[in-house]
Amino acid sequence: MLDEVKVFAPGSVSNVGCGFDILGFAIDGVGDEMILKKNDKNEIVIFPVNGYENLPTDPKKNVAGVAIQALLDDLGSDQGFDIEIVKNIKPGSGIGSSAASAAGAVVAANELLGSPYSRMQLVDFAMIGEEVASGDIHADNVAPATLGGFCLIRGYNPLDVIHINPPKDLWCVVIHPQIEIKTKESRELLSPEIPLKKAIRQWGNVAGLMSGLYTSDYELIGRSLEDHIVEPQRKVLIPEFDELKLSVMEAGALGCSISGSGPSVFALTNGKETADVVAGAMDVVFKRTDLEYKIYVSKVSDEGVKIL
Ligand code: ADP
Repeated sequence: MLDEVKVFAPGSVSNVGCGFDILGFAIDGVGDEMILKKNDKNEIVIFPVNGYENLPTDPKKNVAGVAIQALLDDLGSDQGFDIEIVKNIKPGSGIGSSAASAAGAVVAANELLGSPYSRMQLVDFAMIGEEVASGDIHADNVAPATLGGFCLIRGYNPLDVIHINPPKDLWCVVIHPQIEIKTKESRELLSPEIPLKKAIRQWGNVAGLMSGLYTSDYELIGRSLEDHIVEPQRKVLIPEFDELKLSVMEAGALGCSISGSGPSVFALTNGKETADVVAGAMDVVFKRTDLEYKIYVSKVSDEGVKIL
C-alpha cells in the first residue's frame, strides 16, 4: 500500500443558473494540489497553506481535516495523515475552493487506505467537511469535484447524487473578480419565499437543462440556464454583472450566471473557439474597472479528483 499520494482537486461551478443548491459541474482549468502522507502519530496534521495564512490549520476547522475524520470515523480507523495543500483556488471565490480541498482530501486518504470506499461514497464524507466552510450541508460543489461531470443533487436524506457526463463540446469560461464573497453572507440575501409563477419557470428550466445535457442539445442547454429566482437577488454583489452578461451573450455564449454564491461568473459555450471569444468579451468589460480578476477557459470536465 502507498504511504504518500498527490492529487489534483478541480474547481467547480455550482447552482449553474437555474439549479440553485442542486446542480454543479467540475472544471479542469483551475484546481488545488494536495499531498497526503500517512504518519504514525494517529492525528491529522495540516501544514500552513502558502499564500493563504488565514486558512485554518486546525483539522477540526479545515474542511480537509473534517472530511478525512468523517471517513476515518466511519471506517473505525485512527490512521494519521500529514496534509499539504497547494491552493490555486482562492477561498470565497464561488468556484469551490473549500469543496476542492474536501474532495481531494477524501480521495487521497481513501487511496492510501486501500480504497475501501467508492467515489460516490466519498461524496458523503467530503460533504461533512464542506459543512464547516458554509455552515450548511450541501453537495453541489463537492459532488462534481469528487466525481467529475455534472452532478444533480436530487435529495439529501439519504444523499442522492445523479452523475451526468457532460456533452463533449461543452466549454466553460469563468471570470473571478478578486474580491471575496462568503457563502454564508450571500445566502442571507435570499428571500425564503418564491412566488409560484417563478418557481414554475425555474423547474421548467431545470428539467430542460437535464434533458439538454443528456441529449447534447446545446440550444436547449442555453435556453434553460436562466435563473429567475437567485440571480436577480444576488447580482448586486457582483461588479459589472449586467454588462458582463450582455457582452458574453453577444459573444455567443449559451448562457451566463453567477458561479456558486459569487463573485465568480460563468458562461457555457459550444466549443473552445466561442469560449475564447467569450473570455475576450469578459476581459474587455473588466479592463475598464480597477478590479483585479482572473479568467479561466476550461472544458466542462468529466473527471473529478485526479491521482497524480
Ligand atoms: P468557496 O466557495 O470558495 O469554498 P466558501 O465561502 O464556501 O468559499 O468557503 C471558504 C471558507 O472555508 C473560508 O472561510 C475558509 O477559511 C474555509 N475553509 C476551511 N478549510 C478550507 C480549505 N481547505 N480550503 C478553502 N477554504 C477553507
